[in-house]
Amino acid sequence: MSEPTFSGKQSAISVNFRRTVTVGGLKVRVELEPGCWVTGSRLGLIASHRIAGSARLVSRRLFEKATPADIDAMLPRLRVVKCRFKGCKAPNLVGDGRPRGSEKGYCARHRLKDIVAAAAQVQAKLDEAKARSDDAAYRRGFRYRATVWVHRDTGDDMYSILWFVKKPTAELLRKVAKQSGSRLPNDFQIERLRPVAHRKRNRR
Ligand SMILES: [Zn+2]
Repeated sequence: MSEPTFSGKQSAISVNFRRTVTVGGLKVRVELEPGCWVTGSRLGLIASHRIAGSARLVSRRLFEKATPADIDAMLPRLRVVKCRFKGCKAPNLVGDGRPRGSEKGYCARHRLKDIVAAAAQVQAKLDEAKARSDDAAYRRGFRYRATVWVHRDTGDDMYSILWFVKKPTAELLRKVAKQSGSRLPNDFQIERLRPVAHRKRNRR
């Protein structure tokens, strides 16, 4: 990357700055935080390690005024701490401020587990809401649920949920998809609703 100049002067730190430092026995790669060399931005560093993850170090010094001595002053703040998940001994790289990506101080593996668990929780809530609306539809006499996906050229794909007393024809659902502006009108699913009592019994 070409070096920026500030009022005609080249910065004391190269934008291609890279260094490998040893922290807690781990070889950690350090480089400038992307974009910190833009005029008016403060010097920032990103440290990363394949297992211990990444951490950020921030300085109050503006990049255009910073010198290698500022970097030397920041590096000792890098630490490696144990993952805070009970029983896990995996290393976790820590810098200034909030840890990147893991507010709980988890290692990469437990961070991922945490994300998966959170996603499962959201899915469970969605499933519950779906079951509730199915129950309401069933009580009102509907026996089929159709999910019609709407694929548009712009924006995210969306879907519509429709309830029917009698099983809808494919032709009807294609028409619904086309009217909603879908370019793939064959993407739908029909499911027979189960009686409310039956579903309740199956729920844990
Ligand atoms: Zn862990």
